[in-house]
Amino acid sequence: MMMELRIQLIPTGEIILPPGKNGENYCHNCKVVASDGVRAMMESALTARDRVGVQDFVLLENYTSEAAFIENLRKRFKENLIYTYIGSVLVSVNPYRDLEIYTKNHMERYRGVNFYEVSPHIYAVADNSYRSLRTERKDQCILISGESGAGKTEASKKILQYYAVTCPASEQVQTVKDRLLQSNPVLEAFGNAKTLRNDNSSRFGKYMDIQFDFKGAPVGGHIINYLLEKSRVVHQNHGERNFHIFYQLIEGGEEDLLRRLGLERNPQQYQYLVKGNCPKVSSINDRSDWKVVRKALSVIGFNEDEVEELLNIIASVLHLGNVQYGGEEGNACITSDTQIKYLARLLGVNGAVLTEALTHKKIIAKGEELMSPLNLEQASSARDALSKAVYGRTFTWLVNKINASLAYKDDSFKNYSVIGLLDIYGFEVFQHNSFEQFCINYCNEKLQQLFIELTLKSEQEEYEAEGITWEPVQYFNNKIICDLVEEKFKGIISILDEECLRPGDASDLTFLEKLEDTVGGHAHFVTHKLADAKTRKVMSREEFRLLHYAGEVNYNVNGFLDKNNDLLFRNLKEVMCMSENKILTQCFDREELSDKKRPDTAATQFKASLAKLMEILMSKEPSYVRCIKPNDSKQAVRFDEVLIRHQVKYLGLMENLRVRRAGFAYRRRYEVFLQRYKSLCPDTWPNWQGKLSDGVSTLVKHLGYKPEEYKLGRSKIFIRFPKTLFATEDALET
Ligand code: ATP
Ligand code: MG
Repeated sequence: MMMELRIQLIPTGEIILPPGKNGENYCHNCKVVASDGVRAMMESALTARDRVGVQDFVLLENYTSEAAFIENLRKRFKENLIYTYIGSVLVSVNPYRDLEIYTKNHMERYRGVNFYEVSPHIYAVADNSYRSLRTERKDQCILISGESGAGKTEASKKILQYYAVTCPASEQVQTVKDRLLQSNPVLEAFGNAKTLRNDNSSRFGKYMDIQFDFKGAPVGGHIINYLLEKSRVVHQNHGERNFHIFYQLIEGGEEDLLRRLGLERNPQQYQYLVKGNCPKVSSINDRSDWKVVRKALSVIGFNEDEVEELLNIIASVLHLGNVQYGGEEGNACITSDTQIKYLARLLGVNGAVLTEALTHKKIIAKGEELMSPLNLEQASSARDALSKAVYGRTFTWLVNKINASLAYKDDSFKNYSVIGLLDIYGFEVFQHNSFEQFCINYCNEKLQQLFIELTLKSEQEEYEAEGITWEPVQYFNNKIICDLVEEKFKGIISILDEECLRPGDASDLTFLEKLEDTVGGHAHFVTHKLADAKTRKVMSREEFRLLHYAGEVNYNVNGFLDKNNDLLFRNLKEVMCMSENKILTQCFDREELSDKKRPDTAATQFKASLAKLMEILMSKEPSYVRCIKPNDSKQAVRFDEVLIRHQVKYLGLMENLRVRRAGFAYRRRYEVFLQRYKSLCPDTWPNWQGKLSDGVSTLVKHLGYKPEEYKLGRSKIFIRFPKTLFATEDALET
């Protein structure tokens, strides 16, 4: 049997071999008659393919084998080919070194070009979303996932840069582009930190909308932030740092600025910076980063006064950390008033009132207000609570300020379309997991749900509804775990809230007992008491274990109630409300003081913000970037197979591939398909009179679609391979 073989050599040296009937490469099975020259070229193409693997996992012969999947990743990684597709999902392996693949030339290469014509790249995903936005007028979103250090933030920055360079611009648009780009260094300075896993780890989740006008120019943006890891302000684990901004200010701040702020040029002087014993990081230059951030703040539109107020707050947090307590009979008092003096000046508050608030708690007894002294431990935690609240609220203020600067000035009719970028924390499993990991992993369960809803489930349901025969793919639906966490009244969050509100003897341990009573029988929940002998050995009595879709995690309940309550004593709030610092007056609203209703707990707020996020994402057409970390030591070249296998598993890549192989890449409603392509066939042009499905059938036969390339459902045509549709698109253009 003779078959046509098209080999396309593309600039990176990769070879695109078109897929055969079931996605496999048919040149393996056929005898090719060709001249010596062509044969030599083909042979070298095939050897090269052996070397570099396939650029779309769909082309893997043994597509159900995890070993083959990982081998393909390894081959490509070795050749610096960090990107591979699963259909339209991009898998990216962090190279941990700068590759020359993000130049302007590369951007040009991907601009307006179909997926299959060029090698896989983050720019192809960016461009594809942009083109869909333009042609289909449907809002898009790009969901970037992966564990800490896998390259999510870098990927989102690359996408943003791609739009900034390739989208049309006017002078006004240029300002927006600059601001969009410059929002990154600012948010990273305040929201990122060096951790053991990543020297520039995002300690908050971020969803960013880029708004495009009808000409396709970026005209605005909007950012939503999720759950900043505030506890880092007051404590860091060994080898980790506080948020970058503190070190940038201390290392890079000008002499007179530091003098005004009362700061010394030595991070080790500050209690909030010494815990991790890691003032310097070889990959980070705090001094030059400071300059970048200062410049970025002015591009975004901060005036000098605002910068001053902002830095006053940052310096105040450091001073607060150095407030030391002593005292007799257990009542805390502040040992030196040096810090209080600075704090009073920088925050514009009364020093004596602040001192009292840092050592006393206001209680109301029999209608009277009394100041009750705090003991040393209580006072330290009140001080830390204030630092966390001040920093956390300032961060939210910063995001709002950036949003004001990015706001589309002409949005009276909301006449723009949107591409959303989601860069949010990946699944986390540490030696000790706490409330933060619980929230982060819950978020990942929700994102997996969304992926199932949008990709796996909806895909299969659609085939069923359309009467398309196909082989169902088994997957684990993690809804059961989402319910365990978030269900009203009987989910873990509800039980936690209940304990937080319960007066009397409520504690982290009573919370654990309540969990055992309420969800103890759940298949995805275990505690020491409920565990079998083997599990009991690796669990403490203060832990509960969740069997997440991605693996098992033990959470230590210590601190759950406090972190969920996230309370700040009333008198500390009052002092902040009296502050003359203009940022703080926006962060601490006086109305909060008269509010009788308790604010929602941290977990409940997070749950609500995730529900909103799901809504936002559901209303858009998603694209996925799955980031993989090749090793735990931030090294280039090293490919740690065990680590990678784990990520392939919990990113659901094998399931994703199976669904993709079994399915159809594209589908279009008959009327849409006919309307778009009817001009390509004399029988359907200018208007098809009969049944829509017959019209589509006539049209695709005329176009030479082979029976295995498509199927006709009840209301839609399903097209198996992207290249088929792309070829039709190309025909339209010629
Ligand atoms: P976290 O969840 O901790 O925020 P992340 O997934 O956002 O992690 P990044 O900060 O994007 O991880 O990447 C970690 C580091 O890996 C980067 O600082 C950079 O050094 C390197 N890196 C990531 N992607 C690339 C890339 N495409 N090219 C070169 N280096 C990269
Ligand atoms: Mg990040």
